[in-house]
Amino acid sequence: MLAPMMESPLLISGLLEFGVVSHPEAEIVSRKVEDGSIHRITQGEAAKRTRQLANALLNWGIKPGDRVATLAWNTWRHYEVYYGVAGIGSVCHTINPRLFPEQLEYIFNHAEDRLLFIDINLLPIIEPLIDKLPHLQAIVVMSDKEHMPDSKIDNLICYEDFIAPHSEEFEWPQFDESTPCSLCYTSGTTGNPKGVMYTHRSTVLHAMASLHAQVLDIQSDTVILPVVPMFHVNAWGLPYAVTITGAKLVFPGAAMDGASLWELIESESPTLLAGVPTVWLGLLNHLDSINQKLDSVERVIVGGSAAPLSMIKAFDEKHDAFLLHAWGMTEMSPIGTVNAPNKKLLSLPKEERYKKQQKQGKPVYGVEMKIIDDEGKELPRDGKAYGRLMVRGPWIVNSYYKSDKLATEDGWFDTGDVATIDTDNMMQIVDRSKDVIKSGGEWISSIDLENVAVGHPAIAEACVIGIPHEKWQERPLLLAVLKDGASATKEEVLDYLKPQLASFWLPDDVVFRDSLPHTATGKLLKVPLREEYADHYIK
Ligand code: ADP
Repeated sequence: MLAPMMESPLLISGLLEFGVVSHPEAEIVSRKVEDGSIHRITQGEAAKRTRQLANALLNWGIKPGDRVATLAWNTWRHYEVYYGVAGIGSVCHTINPRLFPEQLEYIFNHAEDRLLFIDINLLPIIEPLIDKLPHLQAIVVMSDKEHMPDSKIDNLICYEDFIAPHSEEFEWPQFDESTPCSLCYTSGTTGNPKGVMYTHRSTVLHAMASLHAQVLDIQSDTVILPVVPMFHVNAWGLPYAVTITGAKLVFPGAAMDGASLWELIESESPTLLAGVPTVWLGLLNHLDSINQKLDSVERVIVGGSAAPLSMIKAFDEKHDAFLLHAWGMTEMSPIGTVNAPNKKLLSLPKEERYKKQQKQGKPVYGVEMKIIDDEGKELPRDGKAYGRLMVRGPWIVNSYYKSDKLATEDGWFDTGDVATIDTDNMMQIVDRSKDVIKSGGEWISSIDLENVAVGHPAIAEACVIGIPHEKWQERPLLLAVLKDGASATKEEVLDYLKPQLASFWLPDDVVFRDSLPHTATGKLLKVPLREEYADHYIK
């Protein structure tokens, strides 16, 4: 028997219009891409412009299900495109401008994007590719007439001209909540990027779950600075969460260096920051160099890569800000687990608390999680056993875009991570399964080693890879980039690591490099490094 409750679909246009009625004055502040100046708009005004955009898209010929691409930074116009494109039943396909040209070409053609919204400073990326994108019919430059750039591409459309002639009134269509709304490709370290198509339902549920006090704790007076780009898993869903609560958004535009972020933080007083560890390293270093402290910031969400102990400490001790460690993936919309503060955690002695904060946290309601061994048997939640981390839930991918093959095994998605889960259901990533180092039958976590190594005062970035070894199968090698002007020897680094690690975890060698390769989302790219150093221990 089914019970007679209303089945109003969970639609993204519903989020926008809820915001208009509930908190039209909620602010959206952006650093403009065109000239770095600050732009201000309210949710109410942005919604009017979004309706104009919806009318413009339909008038141009966008049909339900069509893919509309964006190559853009975090600004109010990108926010309007998110809502406008999804609201009419088409798909907002956010593209990472840091991808290689071949990957961009592949993604555009795989998604068959018909229209592209682009920021002015990203046009040079698309110019050399334009002849290779047969589906792309027009490009809208996210700017006003005054700032329209010169370009090799003909017939560029100016965003403000595109929306201006259209009405601020629009009746959003109602459709099935499982209709696709946005598309994001994982950058991946091998093979072609894979598309994850989100639905209205998955996106709205994810946004609702993210607000909870034990998740991101987003309230009406929260001021959020999402440094995580809107092309990286929908900026972790934050642009959808603010229309539910009326939190203020502060968008950094194209400027994500420490100095620009600090300027924005000083003027807009965000309480919640969100981004990957590399961005925070830049900010923390800048703050050290100018001897300044974060006053307004209460919490800093860190995800995408593991948060090192030194960062957890720096935010707490120097800035009185809590590092909210979170884990997720493109395939998970992205939030999976969050390590949120509670009385028990906050009452622990500091060193003990910092150690606990290194764990990636508890699953958010909606995400089920388990670890399994190679035979598929579930492993105990004892904080010791580690195995393949499997997840399931309403905002987790079932199969990749245009792929018949399910991404899941028995209804569970294999994250490709190896993890432990403790008696409190607290998860800790041990490593990516392909990065775990197997030394003489024992496992070594490259992530843990990297996190200890970056605590060394001279080391800016550390990467640990397992490479072939005659006696132990694999042994760890530490590759380190030194901070500007700093120096260290191999012996000094090993002496620093020694008291903090089990002896068999100690890298056999340390190699100093000028730089390390990264994926388009800023993660260490270990495949070419393993090839480069394949013979390092084999004489
Ligand atoms: P990409 O496009 O680079 O694949 P994702 O965000 O989808 O970007 O990457 C997901 C992976 O990033 C996870 O499977 C995990 O390995 C890693 N990751 C994300 N957050 C964390 C974290 N807090 N600690 C450790 N690893 C993390």
